[in-house]
Amino acid sequence: MIGSQHLTLTQAAQIGTYPGQAHFAIPDARETCWRCRFWDARSDREQHAVCLKAQRLTPGRRTQKVPWNARVCRYFEPKNQIAVR
Ligand code: SF4
Repeated sequence: MIGSQHLTLTQAAQIGTYPGQAHFAIPDARETCWRCRFWDARSDREQHAVCLKAQRLTPGRRTQKVPWNARVCRYFEPKNQIAVR
């Protein structure tokens, strides 16, 4: 699982990745999960929230909440943006 203690923590992306993220964090990303549409905060005061993308990628498994300031991963999509697919 992404961000688990079983990783060797030798690469910057692994070190900056939190359990519950959908993929490895991008170390030099300017955005944080707080700005991602998959970060499922129930209010503006939430500090941690479930990543809906991670939940979708691991059906049937419980995912941990991700802190607001985690660096984004490759699945980042800004909030309030219409997906073009
Ligand atoms: S950037 Fe978005 S998809 Fe990636 S871990 Fe953060 S909330 Fe999840």
